[in-house]
Amino acid sequence: MEVQNIIFLVVLAVAAGLFAKSSSRLVAYLSVAKDENRFDRPLRRIWQVLVIAIGQKKILRDKSAGMIHAAIFWGFLILLGSAVEAILEGLNHDWSLNFLGPVYSAMTVLTDLFCLFIIVATLGAMYRRTIMKVKRLQISKEESLEANLILLTIFTIVTSLLISNAERIALGTDFSWAVRPVGEMLAGVLPVGTGGEIVFAVTWWLHILCILGFMNFLPYSKHLHVLTSVPNVYFSSLAPIANQLERIDFEDENLEQYGVNDIEDFSWKTILDGYTCTHCGRCTSVCPANQTGKVLDPRGIIVSIHERTMDKAPLILKQQNGEELTEEEQVVFDKKLVGDYIDPEALWACTTCGACMQECPVMIEHVPAIVGMRRSQVMMEAEFPQEVQPAFSNMENNGSPWAFSQAERADWTEGMEVPIAAETQDFDVLFWVGCAGSFDDRAKKVSRAFAELMNLAGVKYAILGTEEQCTGDSARRAGNEYLADMMTQANIETFERYNVKTIVATCPHCFSTLSNDYPQFGGNYEVIHHTQYIQKLVANGKLDLHGADVSKEAIAYHDSCYLGRYNDEYGAPRATLEHVPGLEIITNPRNRSKGFCCGAGGARMFMEETVGKPVNVERTEELLETGANTIAVNCPFCSTMITDGVKAKDRSEDVVVKDVAEIILEKIQPH
Ligand code: SF4
Ligand code: SF4
Repeated sequence: MEVQNIIFLVVLAVAAGLFAKSSSRLVAYLSVAKDENRFDRPLRRIWQVLVIAIGQKKILRDKSAGMIHAAIFWGFLILLGSAVEAILEGLNHDWSLNFLGPVYSAMTVLTDLFCLFIIVATLGAMYRRTIMKVKRLQISKEESLEANLILLTIFTIVTSLLISNAERIALGTDFSWAVRPVGEMLAGVLPVGTGGEIVFAVTWWLHILCILGFMNFLPYSKHLHVLTSVPNVYFSSLAPIANQLERIDFEDENLEQYGVNDIEDFSWKTILDGYTCTHCGRCTSVCPANQTGKVLDPRGIIVSIHERTMDKAPLILKQQNGEELTEEEQVVFDKKLVGDYIDPEALWACTTCGACMQECPVMIEHVPAIVGMRRSQVMMEAEFPQEVQPAFSNMENNGSPWAFSQAERADWTEGMEVPIAAETQDFDVLFWVGCAGSFDDRAKKVSRAFAELMNLAGVKYAILGTEEQCTGDSARRAGNEYLADMMTQANIETFERYNVKTIVATCPHCFSTLSNDYPQFGGNYEVIHHTQYIQKLVANGKLDLHGADVSKEAIAYHDSCYLGRYNDEYGAPRATLEHVPGLEIITNPRNRSKGFCCGAGGARMFMEETVGKPVNVERTEELLETGANTIAVNCPFCSTMITDGVKAKDRSEDVVVKDVAEIILEKIQPH
């Protein structure tokens, strides 16, 4: 073994030892959090990794930044082979991967080309950060410095590799199967002889030292995601966004904490989320609360969870080892996650719209974390916005967030033929009206329109009338899991009494809760949103639009979060509207999975909005910009919020907000 091999071996051993130490520390921190089984369905998880992590599917939702990141990521995967070869060569000058023959040729040509792509991509990334000053990338000075340092390191790793390989060609020492088109071009301008050997040695060492240094810097930096993003995607929830709230077992007498008070109440996956956040700001840039000036910053929430983990986890482990905490450590230990790290106001600004989770390229789960903390605030601390209290009390006493008597629940049917389950017993479909559809004057009209459509189509349906009570959606998203649990179980008992198999709901919140939350409680039904149901009725000829009013009309369609992002249903409402001759749907910029929330989800419907610009006004402005005189919605909450937005913009004279059911009924039965 030559001296330089021995030096390399020592450097490698030190770097590997340090890396193993810092990595095991991070793994140990995961153990302070709650256990959760994320090891099921391995094939599905591998597929998720292939599509989202390796295929960069979410990253590429933002085309320009996405291409830069994807080039660096794919380049790194390819460069892993060269890193292995560099280690082999460091241990023994004659070792290489040349024995792979044609595979080596493919590997070297890809490495050569990707070095070039990465150089361009890192320069592009630096340009976006420092010259273009892309808003979502404007973070603290220290973070900015770190990001630029990392980019510079990546630039150095690939440039030194490119030059050292080109120098091999110049010196005539390259491996027989190597193919390096960029290296060939560079070799012409590189020195030969002793000068060339010096250039080779310097660039070779620079390359390997940067790799080893980078590897050891990662566990301490926000670029930890380089190591954790693939596992984080692998362990990410396989359920849709809607399905990710965990049920609490209130029967468990050993349970002392409901919801998340501190990091140890999260699942280990949330701690891994904290390690994995790239600070890219994609979540924050789409957050309706943040974009309208509220204190909520979804990136900040995840970063704060990470900071709290790094502060508290070592202290928990110290205690678990039987060691006493110092006074200073005790001060840190006693800090509060919500209060000292996360502003409680931020938690209550969340509409649970799921846009952050939709955009996050590494599958971080913001909404369950936020609702988890809300749960502790509500059920353990009784700390929540006071405006929510009447909604909670009403749900508890009247089965609805509004102060209406349960006895009035079916009053909207007055003058109509609407069968009630207790009276008819014989029905195929249960029409779940929901609280808004039962009590809100505007939403009652939608209930009537949809009931009318079902009557026209000859559907054998029924409503529960006074036996229906709130699904518990707002209570659950507001963190009052106990109340939601009670209402859920009561509704499931009612469904069982009537042997309910199929439910159709005009509210996407009810639709999503019944279809995604209720199975956790043993309630399994076929749940259909009314726009899907209308589409089916039109498609199978039960509703005939051939004689419909064909006057030309332009419509702006607003995707509700709970039908769209939560349940991936974008097509049915559009397809239903497209059945109508003369209707033209004008696309607004933020639509489908990029749809912008109306501001009412997550129980925000029952809270004051006193900070920043109202979310509903922001959304309405965008819809008004389409120039359409009709705004189509599929949700009673969206209907209220957008109608208020239209009023706020003083456009009530010329713009109307209508539910898809109302539009279809009007076309069939023009007045
Ligand atoms: S769910 Fe919506 S409102 Fe809540 S943090 Fe995410 S983007 Fe913001
Ligand atoms: S949570 Fe996801 S989207 Fe948000 S900054 Fe972190 S990595 Fe980016």
